[in-house]
Amino acid sequence: MGYRLHHFNHIFPISRTSFSAFRFNLRVWCCSQSGTNQGKMEQIVVNGSESQVVVDDSSLLQKKISAIRLGGHAKLQVIADFDATLTKFRVNGCRGQSSHNVLQQEDPEYNDKRQKLYEYYHPLEFDPTIPLDEKAKLMEEWWGKTHALLIEGGVTYNGIQNSVAKATIAFRDGVTELFELLEEKGVPVLIFSAGLADIIEEVLNQKVHRSFKNVRVVSNRMVFDENGHLQSFKGKTIHVLNKNEHALDMAAPLHDHLDDVSGLSDEKSALKKRTNVLLLGDHIGDLGMSDGLDYETRISVGFLNDRVEDSLESYRKAFDILYLNDSSMHGVLKLATHLCSTESD
Ligand SMILES: [Mg+2]
Repeated sequence: MGYRLHHFNHIFPISRTSFSAFRFNLRVWCCSQSGTNQGKMEQIVVNGSESQVVVDDSSLLQKKISAIRLGGHAKLQVIADFDATLTKFRVNGCRGQSSHNVLQQEDPEYNDKRQKLYEYYHPLEFDPTIPLDEKAKLMEEWWGKTHALLIEGGVTYNGIQNSVAKATIAFRDGVTELFELLEEKGVPVLIFSAGLADIIEEVLNQKVHRSFKNVRVVSNRMVFDENGHLQSFKGKTIHVLNKNEHALDMAAPLHDHLDDVSGLSDEKSALKKRTNVLLLGDHIGDLGMSDGLDYETRISVGFLNDRVEDSLESYRKAFDILYLNDSSMHGVLKLATHLCSTESD
């Protein structure tokens, strides 16, 4: 796929009244491969200090930004995937670990057994010939077997803390600032993950060193006995094909004592009233995270971390804003600041 790159300095033309929030050095990529769409396929690639972003339809994005700002931050919620979206794809040059494979059991035989399940089911997850309902059953089967191995082989809360301490996992730069901003504005953040809530929360504890009253992890949650041994899992299994707002019924709060903090009391109905969404994901399938919410306006932000040339076409069509090459979260922070701003310019 051939792309010609033109460099020039410009102001990102989202809104004439939002210049201060969107000052970047612009690059424009023109697709030299497509005959039919040439010219129309102009993409805007913004080169910030360390990242690139592609906006396929800047006028549509501008309309969405205006609509969300008009609704105010009281109508906004943020929905985010965890692995390779909030976390870096690469950490110090190595592939970052996911919340599932961070967990190392004491008996290595069980780690091998889980790996074997991965080798069998992972190709099925991406097999286009398997109908969706059948695939959902396979995913439930996979997750069920994995969870059974975690219980059978033994997992302790201490083991989770140690696994996370040793893990190759890091948040993107700017994630803490993004959560702080959204907490200050009272905007809920739902982290949807088919991984393990207990791991994700431990990663938050160890890497961010604080909790956020607006952040809620919607994922598979462990139940420990009085000796700190994994006993069971709460609620229904959340896997790759059902991690969406329907899954809210299955989830428990991040911190039980903060369950009634403003905006999170009766949180399900409160969330349903927040009909504007900023969605963050690193797979096209992550767009399904807003399923179950009757949203008015959704701005989707994608992170295309790897093999950019292979997936650029599909990702730039799927997401309103697309960050390339394991970018930081600073662009999203600027966008969120702008969305939550009450100033007219
Ligand atoms: Mg992910």
